[in-house]
Amino acid sequence: MLTTNPFDRDDLGDDKLHEECGVFGLYGHADAAALTALGLHALQHRGQEAAGIVAAEGTQFHLHHAQGHVGDNFSTPAVMAPLRGNQAIGHNRYSTAGGAGLRNIQPFFADFSFGGFALAHNGNLTNARILRRQLVQRGCLFRSTSDTEVIIHLMATSLFGTPVERLVDALRQVEGAYSVVAMAEGQVIGIRDPLGVRPLVLGRLGDAHVLASETCALDIIGADFVREVEPGELVVLDGRGVTSLRPFNSGQSRFCVFEHIYFSRPDSMAEGKSVYERRKNIGAELARESHVEADVVIPVPDSGVPAALGYASEAGIPFEIGIIRNHYVGRTFIEPTDQIRHLGVKLKHNANRAFIEGKRVVLVDDSIVRGTTSKKIVEMVRAAGAKEVHLRISSPPTTHSCFYGVDTPERSKLLASSNSVEQMAALIGADSLAFVSIDGLYRAMGHPARDTAKPAFCDACFTGDYPIRLADHDSGAGEGGSVSMLADRKAS
Ligand code: SF4
Repeated sequence: MLTTNPFDRDDLGDDKLHEECGVFGLYGHADAAALTALGLHALQHRGQEAAGIVAAEGTQFHLHHAQGHVGDNFSTPAVMAPLRGNQAIGHNRYSTAGGAGLRNIQPFFADFSFGGFALAHNGNLTNARILRRQLVQRGCLFRSTSDTEVIIHLMATSLFGTPVERLVDALRQVEGAYSVVAMAEGQVIGIRDPLGVRPLVLGRLGDAHVLASETCALDIIGADFVREVEPGELVVLDGRGVTSLRPFNSGQSRFCVFEHIYFSRPDSMAEGKSVYERRKNIGAELARESHVEADVVIPVPDSGVPAALGYASEAGIPFEIGIIRNHYVGRTFIEPTDQIRHLGVKLKHNANRAFIEGKRVVLVDDSIVRGTTSKKIVEMVRAAGAKEVHLRISSPPTTHSCFYGVDTPERSKLLASSNSVEQMAALIGADSLAFVSIDGLYRAMGHPARDTAKPAFCDACFTGDYPIRLADHDSGAGEGGSVSMLADRKAS
């Protein structure tokens, strides 16, 4: 029996999990703000709703926030000229519904007794609601509904003196996943949470030092990759170079495995490995685990391409670009209005009929969330004349919500949370459906299998094994990190 039918609801969205933020910081360059804008542009895939940059020259801090893409908002002299100084931090934001107000755009800035301080964060604090209530009871006035502001108030109420001491004191009280870039007079600070769930890398551009969510943001400014900021490490970039502190060292790493599967750009390096290569490895594992006789392997663009290449190569089946993606679909068209609802997925994708007609097709995608887009793409490929459509997914079934900074539907909306693989294949309309196994995923990452006692990654959205306590959720604050903050937004 089918327990969930997500297709009752029409959805023209792209049905992907979304990374909620990208961060960038730089110390020691006269063009700090312009380089930060370029870095954020390279990280645009991590958040498209809004962006912000704070630059500093001595004690003077200059800030610009805007909704929309970096290139549209940080390209004119009128915006860039006032962002003076040799140090800057920036942030790209992907916000959930209803949370895209200007007051929630990061970096946040506050005047402390020690001077100005700016902070931006990628991740999600899993006890933010509890801390926020406590802070409000103590008289703190919040100006935003973002969990990041909790860190600012914890710093403001700290009894320590220096910016770094106060920041460490604040972060000792929070739980969750965070990669933070922050800035005080004369220093830029970077921190990863004790398990290093979200990425943060360190680079060098001449005498300047750089922090970024991914290495692709170093490439765009011509900076050299130095190393990853380690889980639980805090680095201070200042006139003396880079100082490393270990205030939160857990001795473990639980990097988000979905960064390798989908979030990070394929031209980035993560954990010392090419993201593109790892995606090809997953595709090859998938081909070994779930081979099917077929005539052509077709990726669901763009994110399914590397895994499809790996699958085709391993299976010895020709690879073709059988679906063309329209890159110019704007937000307006994604709104499901009655006038365009019937156009469905064709707004974004079209079948390349000449390479599909009469063929047995293996379609490769990176994940199934609600399944809405998968169903429409399978229908589209069949309508283009495919004899058979076999769907192969380069991640295990997404059965659980993410609470660590990724926009996820609540668990009941995840197709795999309440349907077997056979049920999902029937709902989607595929002749067969297979996901890479969790051990196959680990093999593609260079591990013999998933070590259940000590997994190398956060893989909670596939296993339900959450490596960081979910204090807000367990206290009844709602399901999904994004959803719990949405509740805050509604209440505010
Ligand atoms: Fe990444 Fe999934 Fe863990 Fe979230 S739950 S951090 S998406 S692996």
